Amino acid sequence: MPDNEMNGYDVIIVGAGPAGLCAAMYAGRGMLKALTIERGAPGGELLNTDLVEDYPGFETIKGWELSQKMADHARKFGAEILSDTVRVVRKTDDGAFEVETERDVTYRAPAVILTAGGTPVKLGVPGEREYAGKGVSYCAVCDGAFFKGEVLAVVGGGDAAVEEADYLTRYASKVYIVHRRDEFRASKILQQRAFANPKIEVVWNKKVSEIVGNERGVEHLALEDTVTGARSRLPVGGVFVFIGFKPNTGIVEGHFAHDAGGYMITDDRMMTSIPGLFAAGDVRAQLTRQVTTAVGDATTAAIAVEKYLAVLREKEKAAVT
Ligand code: NAP
Repeated sequence: MPDNEMNGYDVIIVGAGPAGLCAAMYAGRGMLKALTIERGAPGGELLNTDLVEDYPGFETIKGWELSQKMADHARKFGAEILSDTVRVVRKTDDGAFEVETERDVTYRAPAVILTAGGTPVKLGVPGEREYAGKGVSYCAVCDGAFFKGEVLAVVGGGDAAVEEADYLTRYASKVYIVHRRDEFRASKILQQRAFANPKIEVVWNKKVSEIVGNERGVEHLALEDTVTGARSRLPVGGVFVFIGFKPNTGIVEGHFAHDAGGYMITDDRMMTSIPGLFAAGDVRAQLTRQVTTAVGDATTAAIAVEKYLAVLREKEKAAVT
């Protein structure tokens, strides 16, 4: 076997966010030989979250701290977490999976659990790319502190936008939430908190048509009213975009069933339409994407992999005898 090929794993877990770490923990407990591959630090979206207040057993816990606890817990049960970026997941003719990484290593296993999460959706307006990192951000926890005393805008109306707007008021003098409709889809408790925050003002029925700046960074947003079409400008020193996530499923070679948003459709065992390929967390089509649902998916996926492999081995044994 060439140096850059690794065999002998029962399952490869792609991504080490809450779903990946939970799958790794259960795989370890199930005595599976599992490899978890993560391109960044373990924790995924938790690392972009300041406080987690809806994970049972922890009334409030920092995102990074929960990540660390999950990674330690998985390692306690033998999880092997490798730092590398997965380039391709492909099913070969012999039924096994090849997982190719940026470091040019190919890992082989009969099952894969994809927990690769998502990437922030971009607005796709002029100025967004130009000012990325110079006033345009997709992570409040990472970049909020750079905007002390500034006026900011948050774009979006879901949980992320409303929650992160509240977070940003600890640094900003004022935060506008620019939303394209006249109501939020965010959960009621997050809405209540935002409405009670005197530093937050909601700009309803507006879409951003351009992010305008100068050599110092972002200077204002060009807005268009989604009802009247009227144009206006909103002076801000920075803009945080939270308009959803796109699932990181592009690494999967071949066709798989997915919904209109590209999220993978699974059965109740978290298996995708590609037998042996399981999906958990933000890559999966479902009603909501919480830390709790990610670990729930992952629990099911890891246990389902155990059963899938047992059936596979029975079949292999039967074929030999
Ligand atoms: P989301 O729930 O999909 O919300 C996206 C928001 O962006 C919607 O309000 C949408 O407007 C708006 N939007 C989409 N495309 C837009 C565009 N091109 N221009 C302007 N606005 C646009 O996404 P999310 O807030 O990132 O949340 C993703 C998932 O993570 C959800 O399941 C959420 O519950 C979960 N999450 C949970 C928490 C928490 O519980 N604390 C925190 C963060 C995220 P419309 O409403 O008009 O469609």
